[in-house]
Amino acid sequence: MPLDILLLGPPGAGKGTQAKRIEDERGVPQISTGDMLREAIAGGSELGAEVQPIVERGDLVPDELIVRVIRQRLERDDTAGGFILDGFPRTIPQAVALDEMLGEIGRSLSVVLEFVLDEQEAVDRLVGRAVEEGRTDDDPEIIRHRFVVWREQTLPLTEHYAGSGKLVSVDAAQPVDEVYETIDRHLREACA
Ligand code: AMP
Repeated sequence: MPLDILLLGPPGAGKGTQAKRIEDERGVPQISTGDMLREAIAGGSELGAEVQPIVERGDLVPDELIVRVIRQRLERDDTAGGFILDGFPRTIPQAVALDEMLGEIGRSLSVVLEFVLDEQEAVDRLVGRAVEEGRTDDDPEIIRHRFVVWREQTLPLTEHYAGSGKLVSVDAAQPVDEVYETIDRHLREACA
């Protein structure tokens, strides 16, 4: 059975860090739409030019565009044994599109890990990351806007997945290693 993992949670909750760790330990690829878009921007592709102003404002790129990107990504062979979705879906229409895409290939999510973190703590982490990584969307004004977008468009996904029986919550305020231990326990249960 493929290990198809979805990470939910606000910006700054540590999804990317944990996704990399799961990838290293379990050999399933991290699929980060934010990383993919930043690479497209840095590479100067047509897609990059289209999404750059949107990403820099902290808005979401159009659903049909990101669904197309994900569809192509999920067709690659390295997802045969599973994947870790980090940053997608971010809207209800994206979640519906994902359900359809997985249905077409006879798969369904193994587990939905919801990272729970106080908003102020998440903002503080992002401000720290801005200094370390220099991301243009980690400016304080833009960070606040990304949280508004997250609350309005992405938070409702919890409800979308609540009925699936796959949703588990992870206290993302714990130290990184403890967060990973919690995740690992949930993954073992999901595989059992
Ligand atoms: P992230 O690194 O996941 O915080 O994503 C950075 C930015 O990329 C977001 O603020 C959006 O502008 C864009 N983005 C990433 N994933 C998505 C998505 N699933 N839908 C729409 N926009 C996205």
